[in-house]
Amino acid sequence: MPSIAENIVLVCERIRYFEQQYGRPAKSVKLLAVSKKQDPGKLREAFAAGITDFGENYLQEAQVKMKQLSDLQLVWHFIGPIQANKTRGLAEHFHWIHSVDRLKIAHRLSEQRLPNESPLNICVQVNLSREESKSGTTLEQATALCDVVETLPHLKLRGLMAIPEALSDKQQQRASFADLAAAFHRLAPDYACFDTLSIGMSNDFEAAIAEGSSMVRIGTAIFGPRTN
Ligand SMILES: *Cc1c(COP(=O)(O)O)cnc(C)c1O
Repeated sequence: MPSIAENIVLVCERIRYFEQQYGRPAKSVKLLAVSKKQDPGKLREAFAAGITDFGENYLQEAQVKMKQLSDLQLVWHFIGPIQANKTRGLAEHFHWIHSVDRLKIAHRLSEQRLPNESPLNICVQVNLSREESKSGTTLEQATALCDVVETLPHLKLRGLMAIPEALSDKQQQRASFADLAAAFHRLAPDYACFDTLSIGMSNDFEAAIAEGSSMVRIGTAIFGPRTN
């Protein structure tokens, strides 16, 4: 089995290749390593191979890793569904939240961010496939939510995030990303720091980069399958 370091080299090479292939500026796509359900030792390996940004889905699990890795300069991104009773922990421990999908959560995160910390970076999560089971606001409601996040004092609106339904066909993957990218470009001029389109996972990051992703969230292709 290839090592984590070898996987990272491979994923980075593919990202750079797709940037070129689809006419994107070099290094315009950032790699976020999704480390949910992976042991802290594996994050340490990834850090040694150049990864600084990690994505986590569960607050308690993330807090354990943050303690164990506190000697490293890491940027922590929360990408999982948000329960209202977890917002304080998220506001206090993370640098980015990609999964804000309702007003109540946005207000709580701003109120609970410590005022001496830099504003919490926020992406609004859009539910592209309108699947009942998935979190995310509709594209239509995303504008209203972005307008509010932009005005909250301890939040910094950075962009949009989506997890489309799992499709294996690249053209179908591109079609759903294209809707989000269009909304992203329509909204961007209205906000001060709206620079992040958080799309693309292990199985669809080529399509995401083709449609303008600026941050891909890769787990399996770096760490291998999640076992527990
Ligand atoms: C787990 C997860 C990923 C990574 O998925 P892989 O298919 O393992 O690359 C990306 N984004 C979110 C929101 C996730 O929950």
